Amino acid sequence: MGAVSEPIQFHGVAVLIEPESVKYVLDQLCKHAGVQVCLHTMLVSATRNGNHITSVTLHDDGGNHEVRAKAFVDASGEGDLAFFGGASVRYGNHGTVQTGTLSMRLGGITADADLSPTRWTAAIQQAKQRGVKPLVSESGLFFRVPITNDVATYFIDQKYDGRDAESLTAAGIHGREQARAYLKAIRTIPGCEHAYILATGPEIGTRESRHVNARYQVTTQDIENGARFDDVVCLGAWPMEYHTEPGQPTVWRMVHENSTYDIPLRTLCSKDTPNLFVGGRLTDGDSYAGGSLRVMGTSFGTGHAAGVAAAVYAQSQGSEYIFVQKELVRQNAHIKLDQQPNAGEKLRCGVFIWMRLSQFPQDGGENQC
Ligand SMILES: Cc1cc2nc3c(=O)[nH]c(=O)nc-3n(C[C@H](O)[C@H](O)[C@H](O)COP(=O)(O)OP(=O)(O)OC[C@H]3O[C@@H](n4cnc5c(N)ncnc54)[C@H](O)[C@@H]3O)c2cc1C
Repeated sequence: MGAVSEPIQFHGVAVLIEPESVKYVLDQLCKHAGVQVCLHTMLVSATRNGNHITSVTLHDDGGNHEVRAKAFVDASGEGDLAFFGGASVRYGNHGTVQTGTLSMRLGGITADADLSPTRWTAAIQQAKQRGVKPLVSESGLFFRVPITNDVATYFIDQKYDGRDAESLTAAGIHGREQARAYLKAIRTIPGCEHAYILATGPEIGTRESRHVNARYQVTTQDIENGARFDDVVCLGAWPMEYHTEPGQPTVWRMVHENSTYDIPLRTLCSKDTPNLFVGGRLTDGDSYAGGSLRVMGTSFGTGHAAGVAAAVYAQSQGSEYIFVQKELVRQNAHIKLDQQPNAGEKLRCGVFIWMRLSQFPQDGGENQC
């Protein structure tokens, strides 16, 4: 399909992906795996009996539907299922959360346009001096999208509460105001004179909000030491990428020897609700560890592991990690470093990111994901 670039070296290893192709591929993957997908459905409540969640209520335009199960996976990012089901949760880490970002895709940029980070930062700084508002970050991430050659950008950082519709709405509105201001700045760059906004994100992208308190929390030290655990169910490899405040540089802390670290099953298991498992950005980590665990490639792995763990639990009423690992390996998951296809070669990272090597800002820049 031409929708994925060759792997490229960044802070880790990255590939660029084209979003429409990704939607199609994910639809087909689910179809062929026999997954019943219910889009346009909100989980609105959950019931609890003792220390177990027993059912969830889903809402669509037909009304409410109750679903009962022996085990549940919360991959909602916001931890809605855990929260509604009375499991132990927290908001952010140490009283703070990472910023979110509204993406913006631009069309009308010529093939020979100057897409160097220095040029774009200069254009934004000059626009600020001319009084163009509201502009906050002076550098960000931007890259050509495979197939379409549109330019995707991540400049519009916001601090808000991802659990609160009013706060999210205000951030979205302010984000779209910023998008217009960035467009004004970018149109001063040669080749970008006729740029236009193709789309802003369907919603602002949230990096962090509620967390489920798990039986174990991955720590910054685990990642910096390349921790190994007996109950590993997934490998993490993306550096700790922490977004502090709008307009402030992103903090990067690297994985031990640029290799991998183990994510233990306990990190996906609620500490007080034994039939609740989590995946994706809900995987429990401290502030910086969360900045590594949350990215897409790792989320695929933790989501896979949480699904298998829930199935094992539902069948046997236990969370024996040996059974979970056995099933993951049967399904071709690479859960140990020596099982990597390129054994002996250091795995740098398997995360998806949309950018091009020629456009990488130098270290210390505000490239982000
Ligand atoms: C601006 C930005 C850029 C990024 N760039 C990159 C990148 O280049 N590469 C990379 O690897 N990672 C990137 N990331 C990180 C990555 O996108 C996320 O961390 C990752 O998507 C987390 O996946 P998730 O499935 O846990 O959560 P999400 O992607 O947030 O998915 C959660 C889903 O649950 C749904 N949901 C929530 N509550 C309910 C409910 N009550 N009922 C029903 N559904 C519900 C939501 O609608 C959503 O679809 C980026 C993040 C941001 C914010």
